[in-house]
Amino acid sequence: MHRLVVEDSKLGFSSSHFIAGHENCERLHGHNYRISLELAGELDEEFMVMDFKEVKDKACRLCNALDHRVILPARSESVLIREVEGQIEVRSKGKVYSFPREDCVLLPIRATTAEEIARYLYGELKKELPKLARVSVAESEGSMASYTGSEEE
Ligand SMILES: [Zn+2]
Repeated sequence: MHRLVVEDSKLGFSSSHFIAGHENCERLHGHNYRISLELAGELDEEFMVMDFKEVKDKACRLCNALDHRVILPARSESVLIREVEGQIEVRSKGKVYSFPREDCVLLPIRATTAEEIARYLYGELKKELPKLARVSVAESEGSMASYTGSEEE
């Protein structure tokens, strides 16, 4: 079994989020998120697990969709999100936010933690990268969450 680790300064996104109920992270704030990927598998006829550039291009496209946006958890039980006349209205713990629709990205996650974002990115990238074994999301240097596709690991 061969493994690739793919990291690149271009693999990331600068986005806003908040985490309902969390002492510090409940207030709207942002991160320069960085992601890294790991692929595992046998070598192809060119003796590669996969072309690095191809992996980076696919991951970069996904990152761009999140970049410079407010990331919202569409599957949260405590954050209520609805669209009103082109605005996204967000209610959380007594606060009400209103953002232009085009400034937001609603992800099918329960909270905008690095863990849940990693799981989302893994699910999206796995469709295009069958050898994907791990997605890691760092909110800041030294604070990284990984998802491997298996709830047991
Ligand atoms: Zn945060």
